[in-house]
Amino acid sequence: QNVINAFTQTARSERCAYYGNVTVGRDVTVAELRQAYHAVVLSYGAEDNRVLGIPGENLSGVYSARAFVGWYNGLPENRDLKPDLSCETALILGHGNVALDVARILLSPLHLLKKTDITDSSLAALACSKVKRVWLVGRRGPLQVAFTIKELREMVNLPGARPVLDPADFTGLKNAIKDAPRPRKRLTELMIKTALEKPGEKMTELQAAVAQAAAPREWGLKFQRSPEEVLPTADGRRARGVRMALTRLEGSGDSAKAIPTGDVEELECGLVLSSIGYRSLPLDPAVPFDTQRSIIPNSSGRVEGVPGLYCSGWVKRGPTGVIITTMNDSFETAQSVLEDLQVGVLDVSTSREGFGAVESILRSRGVRPVSFSDWEKIDAAEVARGKAAGKPREKIVDPQEMLRLIGH
Ligand code: NAP
Repeated sequence: QNVINAFTQTARSERCAYYGNVTVGRDVTVAELRQAYHAVVLSYGAEDNRVLGIPGENLSGVYSARAFVGWYNGLPENRDLKPDLSCETALILGHGNVALDVARILLSPLHLLKKTDITDSSLAALACSKVKRVWLVGRRGPLQVAFTIKELREMVNLPGARPVLDPADFTGLKNAIKDAPRPRKRLTELMIKTALEKPGEKMTELQAAVAQAAAPREWGLKFQRSPEEVLPTADGRRARGVRMALTRLEGSGDSAKAIPTGDVEELECGLVLSSIGYRSLPLDPAVPFDTQRSIIPNSSGRVEGVPGLYCSGWVKRGPTGVIITTMNDSFETAQSVLEDLQVGVLDVSTSREGFGAVESILRSRGVRPVSFSDWEKIDAAEVARGKAAGKPREKIVDPQEMLRLIGH
């Protein structure tokens, strides 16, 4: 909500103009934008995901977590994903916050999801879901997980779902984290506490049965397992499990490497969600792009070799960090723009036409931009549609319907 408020305030400012429904690189080139403005900042994030590159990755029943998140969040491009949730066990590959988000959605009680802005069609699919067990599998150990404490705590406290962590995975870790940075220390302590808390131990059989009925679903973390192959069913069509290479850690802390021991293990599941990180894409051949790191090469946000062109966010430094990281990163890029103005790298002695020039280009190509007040109409319609069902909004997932709504 804070992000929406801050964004809205900026978008409504007299000194800011918002143009949506314009695809840079297709409707208008970066070269054309650079002709029209003194400075251009590319801040388009990471719209693709990393791929595992293992056999079986394309079998049905295997989805990227990015597409799954897009599906329940009403992203137009993922509206037709229709994930098959007819199995009992799901495997999520990766130990990041996206993996936890996906696990939480798969295991949340429906009455909680109904109060969110998850789309009606996703809710209907989740209502019929048979998934009751979710394993989150990482290639390294508990000290290398990429998720953060707030997201883990939400999972630990999820009503109706029991965490199943193996205490053996955490042996000796209390000592190892003594001098670790505070966030890592607190995160590991929460995992240890969760692993050691065994509500069943002091219970009578009846109490245990009651607890089991109250938490019919379960989830757990598996460590030091690197995906090797998604295994097909007998007819070769669907995923029936994943063969994992067991690993040992070489080195310690964040930089520890997972080295296969030579042993393997098969984990059975009907649903595989690959959650191994996002990836930015190149936008326009005129913009340099580091295909190894999937970022725009830059220094403090200044695109290498292209004065007047800047970048910010995940496309600048890769798909890591939470909102505050991205916000601080944008302050650095803005500072670079201001410095370049001051020292004359940006020549503002002659004026540039700004959006006027872009508008004629778009018109000649039949593209009609959407203004911020247009968006506010769509927003109001979504909120109104959600109200009846007690939801913050019901998202419109068809861009053509959005355009019709604002009379385009
Ligand atoms: P992430 O944090 O980079 O986690 C990726 C996970 O995938 C890591 O556990 C990584 O393990 C693993 N991985 C990468 N390549 C692999 C491979 N080939 N085989 C097996 N495992 C592999 O990515 P994310 O979860 O997509 O999140 C992206 C960013 O968005 C993060 O900064 C996250 O914090 C942020 N985010 C925040 C929130 C929130 O604030 N609530 C919600 C969602 C996302 P290694 O460490 O071994 O590489």
